[in-house]
Amino acid sequence: MFVKTLSLQHYRNYETLSLDSFGNVNLMIGRNAQGKTNLLEALLVLALTKSHRTAKDKELISFGSNNAAVSAEIEKKYGTVNLELQFSNQGKKAKLNGLEQRKLSDFVGALNAVMFAPEDLEIVKGTPGIRRRFLDMEIGQVQPSYLFHLQQYQKVLLQRNNLLKQAFGKGPEITVMLDVWNEQLVEHGVKIIKKRKQFIRKLQKWAQGIHEGITGGGEKLQLSYIPSFGEADEEDEAVLLQQFMIKLSQMRDQEIRRGMTLCGPHRDDLAFHINGNEAQVYGSQGQQRTTALSLKLAEIELIHEEIGEYPILLLDDVLSELDPYRQTQLIETFQSKVQTFITATGIESINASRLQDASIFHVQEGQ
Ligand code: ATP
Ligand code: MG
Repeated sequence: MFVKTLSLQHYRNYETLSLDSFGNVNLMIGRNAQGKTNLLEALLVLALTKSHRTAKDKELISFGSNNAAVSAEIEKKYGTVNLELQFSNQGKKAKLNGLEQRKLSDFVGALNAVMFAPEDLEIVKGTPGIRRRFLDMEIGQVQPSYLFHLQQYQKVLLQRNNLLKQAFGKGPEITVMLDVWNEQLVEHGVKIIKKRKQFIRKLQKWAQGIHEGITGGGEKLQLSYIPSFGEADEEDEAVLLQQFMIKLSQMRDQEIRRGMTLCGPHRDDLAFHINGNEAQVYGSQGQQRTTALSLKLAEIELIHEEIGEYPILLLDDVLSELDPYRQTQLIETFQSKVQTFITATGIESINASRLQDASIFHVQEGQ
C-alpha cells in the first residue's frame, strides 16, 4: 500500500498540515523537537487507531485545542481508500471513505504499518515480559482468535492465583477447585503456546534471511521459544496439553507454598542467538539493534503473506544508529516494494548516495 496524501489538524505540534508528494522513500529531516516523530506517529495512529507512545488519545490533540484530525488517502491493490480519524473530548470517530465506522475494529487494517523506533531495542535487551508483549501484540494483529485465548487465559490465571494465595495449609477441597481452574488454564494456555511457536517459526524464516542481508551474510540469527515446560518445538496440541497438566501436578506443592502459578505461557520467553551466542548477553549495541530491526522487517513479510499486500514502514531515529553498510542494505532490501518513512536529525547522518530518489521533507516547528 502507498500513502498518497496526509493531512493533520490540531495534531500534536501541527496546527494544519497537508502533504501530497510522497515517494517510495521519504526522509523527514529536522532538529530535535520539531515534529518528525509526530508525523510518523500520525501514520501509525491511522493504522492502529492508537499511538505507540501513549494510551491517552487526549495527548494527540494540540495544546489549547478541543479536537484533532488525521486523514490520508491510501492507494491499495484494489483501489484508493480515504481514512479519517477525529479525536475530541468525547472520544474518537473513524471514517472510511467518508462513512463513519461503528466499530473501530472495522477501521483497523485499512492501513497496515510497521514501526521501528529506538525503544524496540528492548525486545532484545529487555525483560521476558517485553518479549511476551511483542509476541502478543504481533500475533494479535493478524489473528484475532489469539487475543481471545490470551484474555481468557489471563482471567483464569488471576482467579487461580487468588486461590493459590489462600491455599496454604487448607484441606483437599482446594485441590478439587484447583483442578477445575487447571483445565481452563491448560485449554487456553496450549492455544497460546502453539500460536506463538508457529509465529516464531514463520518469523524466523524471514528474519534470518533479512538479518543475513543487512549484515552481508556475516551473522546468522536464530529465534527460539523458551518454554516453561516441554520441548521448544513441540506444536502438537494434545501433547502440549498432557505435558502442561503433568507439569502442573508436579508443581502443585511449590505453587501452594509460593501462592502463584509457576508454569505456562505467562512464564515463557523468546531468545535470540547470533552465530550461536545469545544476543541479549553477548550482542553489541549494533547487533542488538540489527536483531530487533530484522524482527520488525520480518513482520513486513509476514503481513504480506497474510494479506497479500505490503504494509508501510516507519523508521524513527533508527538509520543513524547503523553503520553505512547496514543502512544501505536496509534501504535496498525494501526500497522498491515498501513505502518507507524515515526520520533523522540531519541528512549527513544518512548514507545519502542510496537516497537519490528519496523525497525529502524538512520539518521545523510543526511545519
Ligand atoms: P527528536 O529529534 O527529538 O526525536 P522530533 O522532531 O521527533 O524530535 P516530536 O516527538 O515529533 O519531535 O515532538 C515535537 C514537539 O511536539 C515536542 O516539542 C513536543 O513538546 C510537542 N508536542 C507533543 N505533544 C503535543 C501536543 N499535544 N500539542 C502541542 N505540542 C505537542
Ligand atoms: Mg523523534
